[in-house]
Amino acid sequence: MNLTSLLLRCAWLLYGLALWATPASAEPPALDARLLDAPMASLTPSMAILEDPDHSLALADAMQARMTERFQPPASAAAALNLGHSSSRYWLRLRLQNPGDQPIERMLEVGYARLSQLTLFQPQADGSYQAQATGNALPFATRAYANRYFVFPIALPAHADQWLYLQVQSSSPLIVPARLWTPSAFHAYERKDYSAQALYFGMALTMVLFNLLLYFALRDRVYLLYVLFASCFTLTLAEENGLAKEFLWGDAPLWSNIATGVGFSWSCGIFLVFMRQMLNTASLLPRLDRAIPWLVALFLLSPLAFLTDFDAAIQPAVALWSLTMLLILGVGLYGAFRRQRTAYFFVAAFAIGCFGGIAAGLKALGWMPSNLLSVNLLQLGSAIEMLLMALALADRFNLIRREKAAAQQAALDAQQLMLHNLQSHERLLEARVAERTDALQLLNRQLEALSTTDGLTGIANRRHFDQVLAREWRRAARTGEPLALAILDVDWFKKYNDHYGHQAGDDCLRQVASILASHAGRASDLVARYGGEEFVLVTPATDGQRALQLAQRMCADIQALALPHAVSEFSCVTASIGVAAMLPQEGQMPELLLHNADKALYQAKAQGRNQALLA
Ligand code: GH3
Ligand code: MG
Ligand code: MG
Repeated sequence: MNLTSLLLRCAWLLYGLALWATPASAEPPALDARLLDAPMASLTPSMAILEDPDHSLALADAMQARMTERFQPPASAAAALNLGHSSSRYWLRLRLQNPGDQPIERMLEVGYARLSQLTLFQPQADGSYQAQATGNALPFATRAYANRYFVFPIALPAHADQWLYLQVQSSSPLIVPARLWTPSAFHAYERKDYSAQALYFGMALTMVLFNLLLYFALRDRVYLLYVLFASCFTLTLAEENGLAKEFLWGDAPLWSNIATGVGFSWSCGIFLVFMRQMLNTASLLPRLDRAIPWLVALFLLSPLAFLTDFDAAIQPAVALWSLTMLLILGVGLYGAFRRQRTAYFFVAAFAIGCFGGIAAGLKALGWMPSNLLSVNLLQLGSAIEMLLMALALADRFNLIRREKAAAQQAALDAQQLMLHNLQSHERLLEARVAERTDALQLLNRQLEALSTTDGLTGIANRRHFDQVLAREWRRAARTGEPLALAILDVDWFKKYNDHYGHQAGDDCLRQVASILASHAGRASDLVARYGGEEFVLVTPATDGQRALQLAQRMCADIQALALPHAVSEFSCVTASIGVAAMLPQEGQMPELLLHNADKALYQAKAQGRNQALLA
């Protein structure tokens, strides 16, 4: 390396150091207000700034020559001058020239609605300054030109070379996006701007009303929460961008000051409740779910803090809003991670809303170019968010409906199964009852038969005989036909028993009974065992002679049986029969017939047995 090159390098270094050490020109260049290059110019590069921390400087002080060096150029060349949160008052000055021969009119726009106070000092023809004081903390009527932002019409005479002073002070961040417009360009811009705003707020209003109707129709609280959130957030945006001040509460300075803080806090609170319901955090994140009401209460009570000391409350509030947004995003992502269907829509919607908010913040700080799209990014984001949330609500409704339908189907199936079981049980029961009834009827018939049958001989018993006799007696009395009765008694039966044994006696009785039964030829005839070795025959519509013949045949048939009876004078079993026949008369009882037959039997016994006699 030779000496020359070393010297050259040193010279370059010194030159560079000198450039770095020299303070930048304190005074930015004057602006040609004719705006020959474009119909609009950012004023930030032309501004110089003076901080007045204790609000002590008047215009005359700011204009003094010794103050000139205290005016500083802006720290960045961004389109918006950003002085951050500050309680200081600031003086901004700029030099406007009209080198032309004609007087011109221009519009000076400060495109940030939340500046608390700003005053424009503009020189008059006589050199004095005219002050136009306005700001968010003053009634809307103070504005020289009605616009959601702060717009000052400016008249510049031919060959004018003026210093304009703008005094600003705010409880919101001190952002001053100042631009100079030709009137025609400004009016065109203003039309587009208001149309875009109308589009957004029209849509928001539609969403609010539509979801309110859905709430009334479906009675699902989540729709009401959505309506509350959308209304609150939309109004907050309207306040943020100056429209609420222009159209809703132009003359409420205190409220204008805290409205956005309160609005964002309430929006956060309502949105948390909405999220709770929408993502069902009670089952998704139970612990967080229990903490949410406290956070909501904090947000809802925030106006108290803002009213007490707005400047002290706003910074923690901004931090809390940011954390809450992160929390909501986190919960949404967790829900999506847990494959909760509604969470997909929720996260998408909320992320787009957040993106709009961040973009709007960048735009307000002048870090993004200002055009119709970027100016309305917050609205665009929030509009898409509202649409997606409505979609999420619709999807949720669908989901609930499907779950309900499935539950209903399950209930219906269960009911059907129960009904089916019940019916088959009933059928089983009916079959059993029928079975039992049949068995009972059979048993009843058997019992009845038993109760009317003689156990030894199988013919009717005394009980049945009594009933039939009484019945036939009444019938005979009715029809006027004679009723006949025969009583049979086995001869010397005691001896038979004694000789052959009781068992043989029983056999003998059975055989006699079957002979008698064979003689009861008519259906109305009845043969019964009257008791011991005595039998009876009732035969309706029969006179004495015919009954006697029947009895004689019976006697003959019993003898014809030839059952040996060693101790009888006939050497076989014989029987005696007493017969009686009557036409029942008024006041007579059937016992009379029985009595007569019995008398005839007695006579038959007395006359030698083995014979039938008519009474
Ligand atoms: P009579 O010719 O005068 O009628 O003489 P008798 O021996 O038949 O006299 P009585 O009518 O007094 O006798 C009835 C007997 O019938 C008495 C009893 O031993 C017998 N006896 C009554 N019922 C039954 C029965 O169910 N089975 C048997 N084996 N004998 C019976
Ligand atoms: Mg007897
Ligand atoms: Mg006898």
